[in-house]
Amino acid sequence: MSTVESLNEIRRELPAGVALVAVSKTHPPEAVMELYTGAGQRAFGESRPQELKAKYEALPKDIEWHMIGNLQTNKVKYIAPFVKLIHSVDSDKLLAVIDREAKKNGRTIDVLLEVHVAGEESKIGWEEQELAEYLKTEAHKAYGNVSIRGLMAIASLTEDAGQQEREFKRVRFLFDELKEFTGPLFDTLSLGMTSDYRVAVRCGSTMVRIGSLIFGERDYSKV
Ligand SMILES: *Cc1c(COP(=O)(O)O)cnc(C)c1O
Repeated sequence: MSTVESLNEIRRELPAGVALVAVSKTHPPEAVMELYTGAGQRAFGESRPQELKAKYEALPKDIEWHMIGNLQTNKVKYIAPFVKLIHSVDSDKLLAVIDREAKKNGRTIDVLLEVHVAGEESKIGWEEQELAEYLKTEAHKAYGNVSIRGLMAIASLTEDAGQQEREFKRVRFLFDELKEFTGPLFDTLSLGMTSDYRVAVRCGSTMVRIGSLIFGERDYSKV
């Protein structure tokens, strides 16, 4: 199946209101262009700031670039001028740097806060309690150039769909609970990738991030 056919098949399956980010990391700009022209896809996701910047520079400017991977503070400057949504904000420190870089570029950057719900194999993201306390202090309101649009999470890598479902449901619950402290723009819940997007959608995801199911396996040796 071509990437265009795979993408269209996923689109047909997703309920209205669930956005699809095509995760193009490790794939060349031509692969992005195929979906851009062949399927009208505009939202693409990348994990590495330099790769994201290089693709931004090489490709049409109406593409919406999503930063979905772990982001170091010293790399924010590469993507701040154009990034559409940063999914992976895991600390107040990173939020402060994004705010500063957004201001330098005269714009507001939309972000999601990444919640840690998977098992012990991963440590990335806010603990649920810690995040709730942070938002309730309203400390984030000091950042005039970031807009916190919602939450993102990665479920445990497991064959146990029941466990993934419990993890996703916890994030959905937290998302609904935190709306009160974040306002009406808090409307995005980024949950689900190739192996678990169906579970994620059942649990209330509003945005899925899908790579391999569209583009095939990644070859990291080519990057
Ligand atoms: C790579 C990546 C994806 C896409 O993974 P697939 O399994 O290829 O769909 C989704 N989310 C994040 C955070 C990623 O790093």
